[in-house]
Amino acid sequence: MDISEVNIDDLLKQPIHCDCGHIHTIDMKAVIVGSNAIEELPRIMEEANYKKAFLVADKNTYEVAGKKVEDTFDEANIAYSTYVYKEDGLIPDETAIGSLCMAYDDTCDIIIAIGAGTINDIVKFFSYKMKLSFYVVGTAPSMDGYISSSAAMTVNNLKTTYTTHVPEVFIGDLDILSKAPRPMIAAGFGDILGKYTCLHDWKLSTVISGEYYCEYIVDLMTSAVNKTMESFDGLLERKKEAIEKLTYGLLISGIAMSFIGNSRPASGSEHHLSHFWEILFQYEGKKPVLHGEKVGIGTIISVKLYEYLLRTIKEDKIDFNKIRENYDFSFSEWASEIKRVYPSAWQEIVELEKDSLKNSKDNWERRIEATKKKLDQIKEVCEDLPSSEKIEQMIRGLDGPVRPADIGIDESAVYNAILYAKEIRNRYTILQLLWDLNLLEEGANIITANK
Ligand SMILES: [Zn+2]
Ligand SMILES: [Zn+2]
Repeated sequence: MDISEVNIDDLLKQPIHCDCGHIHTIDMKAVIVGSNAIEELPRIMEEANYKKAFLVADKNTYEVAGKKVEDTFDEANIAYSTYVYKEDGLIPDETAIGSLCMAYDDTCDIIIAIGAGTINDIVKFFSYKMKLSFYVVGTAPSMDGYISSSAAMTVNNLKTTYTTHVPEVFIGDLDILSKAPRPMIAAGFGDILGKYTCLHDWKLSTVISGEYYCEYIVDLMTSAVNKTMESFDGLLERKKEAIEKLTYGLLISGIAMSFIGNSRPASGSEHHLSHFWEILFQYEGKKPVLHGEKVGIGTIISVKLYEYLLRTIKEDKIDFNKIRENYDFSFSEWASEIKRVYPSAWQEIVELEKDSLKNSKDNWERRIEATKKKLDQIKEVCEDLPSSEKIEQMIRGLDGPVRPADIGIDESAVYNAILYAKEIRNRYTILQLLWDLNLLEEGANIITANK
């Protein structure tokens, strides 16, 4: 099968019996991306036998898409109720869920989220709890979470990810998506760029620890990323075909995550760096930054770390005897560092290390043994990435931020993220590999010195 010819409908149809040994499925009925795609909503609802829709939007998304949905339903004589969040800077927290619960019209049998990240998370979470299906009308190609089966909620002021369900239908109306604010398009592009590093992190993990790997999903993702890259010039001009490719790239990323039941195909070191800054911003009460902006900057840093590793390998500077002599992980010292750099989330991170023991001597030794044996393969993985300059140039081309300082991240937050972002999850990436080789600190120094 030629992977570049696969379209989203093929992916939604039957379960895919994959060579990786898994059966890949996603519980979605339709993805419709096109000009005036919103006009398909009445037909889709009727086919599914839904009688009344509950529309959820915020002030902005109501203006750009909510009214169009209402007009379409009026014309087709479909009943609906609408709830519009009035607040600026809506947060997907207890208050937002409470307001929605109080406004919810229980004569409705399908909920429609009209918006991007936040509205999508709120409706995904709410509909899951209510055991109701939901549709999404996307308003910006800004992130890949539209059809992932998790919702990022803020609970007790802390961001928490909940396993939920995926939308039954996604509608991407290109007349709306192509008018999304420029920073949101750049952010979506940044989220796609992050796939380079996350897919290479996955490959590294397979090389080092034999982690499950699906060639089909990697090819699918790579093809989607390449198509997005090819449409770069069109994105600058907001051409619909280019916006369509970007949207597909983001959707395929969501499908890939659903296919294997976790975020491995779409999230690696670049996302861990981004999460580190997000937790910090939340703790410091700073205004949140678009997810894809942080991921784009995280990707530049991760690629630079890959480049640093490649240089070190090429210069033959990896001395395994010395590395073994220098291993000195002390759990208590590490835990006090974690407390310092994650003042709001340290407990969970310490618990995670107690469970996973990823930094313990036994596990480190096993990995370092494999690293020594497979250094050639690691080198190949490093060589396969586009350069950090190229990535920077593309984000800059879309007027997106490329330096941490552009979005208010200072030098110490860059340094600490490089050293400690890997502790957020038990997921092997370039960050863990550099730590294993006792190179992470030097890597962090090089990157912070070359702002
Ligand atoms: Zn597979
Ligand atoms: Zn992302």
